[in-house]
Amino acid sequence: MRKTAFLFLSLIALTFYSQAQDSAYVRQIIKTLSSKDMHGRGASYHGDSIAATYLAGEMKRLGILPLQVDYFQTYTYNCYSFEGEMSLKINGVELEPYTQYRIYPTARQATPSKLDKASWKKQLKDGTWLIGVSKLDTYSPWVVDKERPDPVCIEILETALPKKVKKVVADIPIQYHSNYLTRNVVGYVQGVVDTMIVFTAHYDHCGTMGDAVYFPGAHDNASGTAAVMDIARIASQKQPYYTIVFMLFSGEESGLRGSKYAAENPLIDYSKVKLLCNIDMFCGGDEGIMVFNANSKETIPFFNQLKAINDETHAARLVKPRDNSANSDHFWFSNYCPSIFILTMGQPYGGYHDPYDTCEGCGLGHYNQFMQMILRLAQLE
Ligand SMILES: [Zn+2]
Repeated sequence: MRKTAFLFLSLIALTFYSQAQDSAYVRQIIKTLSSKDMHGRGASYHGDSIAATYLAGEMKRLGILPLQVDYFQTYTYNCYSFEGEMSLKINGVELEPYTQYRIYPTARQATPSKLDKASWKKQLKDGTWLIGVSKLDTYSPWVVDKERPDPVCIEILETALPKKVKKVVADIPIQYHSNYLTRNVVGYVQGVVDTMIVFTAHYDHCGTMGDAVYFPGAHDNASGTAAVMDIARIASQKQPYYTIVFMLFSGEESGLRGSKYAAENPLIDYSKVKLLCNIDMFCGGDEGIMVFNANSKETIPFFNQLKAINDETHAARLVKPRDNSANSDHFWFSNYCPSIFILTMGQPYGGYHDPYDTCEGCGLGHYNQFMQMILRLAQLE
């Protein structure tokens, strides 16, 4: 009898465990996405494509239905990658990539005003600019669509430059891809009703800066991608009331490309979307969570609901409302359906757009409680 009771209780515990949010599952996905094998999930070595294949395989394993053939919505944009050995020598001294110099695959950094302000500058034969700066900019592969690619700009820390620059030997591998092929990964679970809750996250990141530097992007946004996959795992176990849609975008770091394409080439009927919830940067959270586009007429009820859940559960230190902003993938969809963007506030996470944003640095201490709030919003628990 006791044995049976124990078995029965174990089964309940197992069922509860397998249906509840699972930070071990989330950790595993963050680890895989932020590994060196994914090359920073940008255009370098088609890291984004390797990640897309992995995520589609995971959706298939969970029994998520594809919204497109093989779960892929394919589109293109123009971008740079930096694959191969990279070397920059000034007066015979090799500089250290990332900490002493950074190569930005965009002309934004080489604006005339910036070139004017540079303490030192030199243009290489291929058009690439080298400039001296007192502080290196945050890394970003944001690109502006133009027929001809803008010249690449390399910023060098002034402290790494000699008083007089005599000789520059730059061996910088630069690849320009016009119409680079990339993929959003899309699936769904049919609910009791056709009304949809859509969960989105971008899985891409900043790629590599030559072979010596890659950007793991654990916080940004392996964490949000993993959270959406965790929701997919839960939704796949028992038919949900709402139909739950999952969209994982590429191209976010290059200018919200994947979500723009998905919003403008819809795979779902927006009139049936109750809520779209985007998750971008979900490690840490010691200070709570922030909700963008929380103040519009369509989204205020959802924000109030989140706040009410938090008043009851004290999951987050603070649930902070913000106006809409073009700062992540929810933005394009906010033209068509109620769309919010949730991110964590505060530590611990490894870094931001740098080589230190690692899986090890990503704290998931608040994950289960934050996710419980989101699951309640979607009536998934
Ligand atoms: Zn980012």
